[in-house]
Amino acid sequence: MSATPIHEPSFRESVDLMFNRAVALMDLSPGLEEKIRVCNATYTVRFGVRLRGGIQTFTGYRSVHSEHMEPVKGGIRYAPNVHQDEVEALAALMTYKCALVEAPFGGSKGGLRINPRDYDEHELELITRRFTYELVKRDLIHPSQNVPAPDMGTGEREMAWIADQYRRMNTTDINAAACVTGKPINAGGIQGRTEATGRGVQYALHEFFRHPEDIAKAGLSGKLDGKRVIVQGLGNVGYHAAKFLSEEDGCRITAVIERDGAVTDPNGIDVEDLHQWIATNGGITGYPHGSVTPNGNAVLEEPCDILIPAALEGVINLGNAHKIQAPLIVEAANGPITAGADDILREKGTIIIPDMYANAGGVTVSYFEWVKNLSHIRFGRMQRRQEESRHQLVVDELERISESLGKTWTLSPDFKQKYLRGAGELELVRSGLDDTMRIAYQSMREVWHGRGDVKDLRTAAYLVSIGKVAASYRAKGL
Ligand code: NAD
Repeated sequence: MSATPIHEPSFRESVDLMFNRAVALMDLSPGLEEKIRVCNATYTVRFGVRLRGGIQTFTGYRSVHSEHMEPVKGGIRYAPNVHQDEVEALAALMTYKCALVEAPFGGSKGGLRINPRDYDEHELELITRRFTYELVKRDLIHPSQNVPAPDMGTGEREMAWIADQYRRMNTTDINAAACVTGKPINAGGIQGRTEATGRGVQYALHEFFRHPEDIAKAGLSGKLDGKRVIVQGLGNVGYHAAKFLSEEDGCRITAVIERDGAVTDPNGIDVEDLHQWIATNGGITGYPHGSVTPNGNAVLEEPCDILIPAALEGVINLGNAHKIQAPLIVEAANGPITAGADDILREKGTIIIPDMYANAGGVTVSYFEWVKNLSHIRFGRMQRRQEESRHQLVVDELERISESLGKTWTLSPDFKQKYLRGAGELELVRSGLDDTMRIAYQSMREVWHGRGDVKDLRTAAYLVSIGKVAASYRAKGL
């Protein structure tokens, strides 16, 4: 990663600067503005775990940014350099993100200072359970108070341990499964959660490309098909986004940047094959297709149509913003562009689909999972067969008419197969996610195009979400 210049604001300062830019265009009382901006509380815990014949001490955080709605929601990340400032910035983004996509939660985020690659599975389980114990004790994990989810360095395995630990400590809580989302299916998860953030990135791009005016603003034309895409980070979010865009939408993934360098191939990278290589070899080094360079960050500056940073915050900063050539950037990661870089890019006319919208697919499907856990029934279980039998009635009737007209026309087998299948959980989750991403984009777009003083999608996103949080505080009489 290129060194961040000294005068670069921190991640939290960047979020505050972007917040300030938006509220300057709003008519909020200074008191309410301050109430929304500040982070309500951050809990820091240091706990010991007996490992490898000694006691190791770990530091973890859980930050609650806003409780205008409860539970509060936000992932837990495992990374060696997690710190309070970062967790607070991420918690604030969660507040705005949930408001933007109308997920009924306040914002929170957690972090554990650990490099998960330094520990084996059993050790990680011990550490996760102990961290969970510390948070559950203080209701910082709780189905109606605070519901974590996966983030960088964590996934469904960790979420299953968290859920189990909560259940052990709350044996009579019938809603225990709703204490965390992103769980595996057999531990109360929901179909489509693992892919959700990447899927949301895809749906965000689908919606963007439905608006010729927006495509033109980015200096692009046509459809998604054939667009050259550079992705940074082939983890949960980046992998799914790259996979869906290349396999379903005809995009060419011309470069993938990972922690040990980048692979480039102007003809398009086989995402599944590269993902498999990284899983086996621990990085992209030695990948036999395309060309591999150890200087990954320089590849952010390569020409492409769409740049998708899906790894870390602050990767596009004052040091490289002026060299970025992509006309359209989709912030799949949280905070990949610093406030200073954001100014430079806006000035250049780069269109940025902001993080609070672009990666909201994860929290959206987490919301569905939480609802599923509280309702104790899988989505579609009651309706699916009934829907199928009603569709069967229509098909039977059409075939009867066709018969009576001497079979001058027939229904195609493909139509029949698609039409007759009732929606299962995965179809419903995808439909709910698609709807959410479309509506949220349209709400940002209305502000972006409708107000002369709003020049970019990020400011529009902040205006929409801060407006909703403010309305919620006002309704509470604050
Ligand atoms: P992950 O741990 O699954 O993947 C991160 C990937 O980035 C890994 O492949 C890692 O090797 C790579 N990486 C790390 N350092 C890098 C570097 N210096 N250069 C290039 N690549 C590097 O994490 P994730 O869950 O995919 O999260 C990625 C981003 O998306 C984070 O900003 C996270 O906050 C955000 N996000 C995640 C979710 C989710 O549901 N997982 C939801 C919303 C937002």
